[in-house]
Amino acid sequence: MATTAKPTQKSTGSTAKSTATKTTAAKATATKTTTAAKSTSARGVVKAKSSAAEGLHELFVDSLKDIYWAEKALVKALPKMAKNATNENLIAGINNHTTETEEQIARLEQVFEIIGKKAVAKKCEAMDGLLKEGQDIMESTEPGAVRDAGIIAASQKIEHYEIATYGTLCAFAKTLGYDDAAEILHTTLEEEKQADITLTEAAYNTINFDAAEADDENEVA
Ligand code: FE
Ligand code: FE
Ligand code: FE
Ligand code: ZN
Repeated sequence: MATTAKPTQKSTGSTAKSTATKTTAAKATATKTTTAAKSTSARGVVKAKSSAAEGLHELFVDSLKDIYWAEKALVKALPKMAKNATNENLIAGINNHTTETEEQIARLEQVFEIIGKKAVAKKCEAMDGLLKEGQDIMESTEPGAVRDAGIIAASQKIEHYEIATYGTLCAFAKTLGYDDAAEILHTTLEEEKQADITLTEAAYNTINFDAAEADDENEVA
């Protein structure tokens, strides 16, 4: 993780020389530079908001708020996915992960307590998008093996996002010296990895084959 802020250097020397020779070109360049400077800084570096995190600790807290929102949104969405699934293994897997997700939310509240911060949820744009995509997939498929395959695909994208998030949170917690918090986050990380494996197994065991068969039947008909 890059936390050390390097001072940005402005290279003005060479630009000044070449523009001095061509007056018209120099004028055009100057206008362009001013316009660009208003939206982004040099080299496309994103300008930080006034509320930007000042150090790794703040980034850690912001990331916790983000995944707290994500888990809360997910726990509401999972039962809907289970209702739309038909394969028993898949339904059981989703229901099991709903229970786990409730526990994960409680674990995050524990982490907030450890670090002495109030548990606050801040909208996670990624989870919002992943859940919207899951909804889209359900709307674009008939209930049955094909929708099941779509639900697995959408769920695995969600699990992978969570795996990445908890991996990072774990590393942040360790770096900041929150060993107890790191252990709690690690428990969830392992749970997310197992959920991903369960989904892969559900897909391999029957669902994707059934979905392929459904395709064959459609072609014959
Ligand atoms: Fe989770
Ligand atoms: Fe997020
Ligand atoms: Fe996508
Ligand atoms: Zn999960």
